[in-house]
Amino acid sequence: MKKDQLIVVAGGGGFIGGHLVGDLLRRGFTQVRSVDIKPFDEWYQVHESSDNLQLDLRLKDNCVRACDGAGAGEIYQLAADMGGMGFIENNKALCMLSVLINTHMIMAARDAGVTRYFYSSSACVYNQDKQTSEDVVALKEADAYPADAEDGYGWEKLFSERMCRHFTEDYGLICRVARFHNVYGPDGTWEGGREKAPAAICRKVIEAKAAGTHEIEIWGDGKQTRSFMWIDDCLKGVDMLMHSEVEVPLNLGSNELVTINQLVDIVEEIAGITLKRRYNLDAPKGVNGRNSDNTLIKQYLGWEPDTRLRDGMARTYAWIHDEYMARYGTGVTTAS
Ligand code: NAD
Repeated sequence: MKKDQLIVVAGGGGFIGGHLVGDLLRRGFTQVRSVDIKPFDEWYQVHESSDNLQLDLRLKDNCVRACDGAGAGEIYQLAADMGGMGFIENNKALCMLSVLINTHMIMAARDAGVTRYFYSSSACVYNQDKQTSEDVVALKEADAYPADAEDGYGWEKLFSERMCRHFTEDYGLICRVARFHNVYGPDGTWEGGREKAPAAICRKVIEAKAAGTHEIEIWGDGKQTRSFMWIDDCLKGVDMLMHSEVEVPLNLGSNELVTINQLVDIVEEIAGITLKRRYNLDAPKGVNGRNSDNTLIKQYLGWEPDTRLRDGMARTYAWIHDEYMARYGTGVTTAS
């Protein structure tokens, strides 16, 4: 890619999109367009030197506008109506409506004649039968079929993955698809209902400290297992995959497996506190166990995400702590 080719990041006001735009600008790309439905004051990062547009990408005309002039350039499609388990389990229709964004964006990208199209899929595409035990066998790419994805969100991701495949077969559009496994880091959602476990746990620990309650609510029994990928690893993997010849969807995730209880241990240690744990067995908790099998990514790209969870969480905690204090001071809050 020449440094002055247009690069479009859809969902640039979001967590991963905001970091991606920043990374592209730092790497010297001069024509970066960032598009999001949210008003600018709700973007996690507004980069002054990108071309920032507020557009609803469910609408085809807006996708055409977003891709305008991107003929020799690249598109990164990250826009989606999504959140953590609390959001996706209770908003299945909304999650499925992201199909409008994915359909109209890929059509607009094809019509603009872009050189490469990146699609952000998810570990939620995997067959749920393979995720019933905390004692996991890591998910390999073939485990998406026979299909029984996460209801709503996961099915939409799987459908849109297949659309990428058929746009390649039928129209020659070069598509690259990553299945992200839980990405975390600063400049993302940490309260309000769409936050994911790493940010939610940081916030709850900070809240408990500030309020002096010394208690934390954990969704589920805390024994469910997951892996979490540091944002910089995500960006590196996206770049490597986008510019590779890999035509199949690839896991992009860490394989450092922890229970949610161990994640809480890590945050408590960072915060220098020990809290009484209250388990809410009625709260959404997702599958019992999930890890990323990184055989294929290592084979194709010679690399896998490798930032230690403890290191990434320390930086994430510090950022959320600053945000929390700036918003609420040290007072007691009801942030949820
Ligand atoms: P995010 O919610 O922070 O970012 C998504 C952005 O898309 C938001 O800013 C939102 O406003 C925007 N958006 C939603 N509807 C839109 C519309 N109609 N038009 C334009 N913009 C719209 O989420 P994220 O964590 O940055 O995730 C980015 C992508 O990666 C998403 O597609 C998500 O499904 C996928 N993904 C993320 C994770 C993760 O752990 N963060 C895991 C798997 C997959």
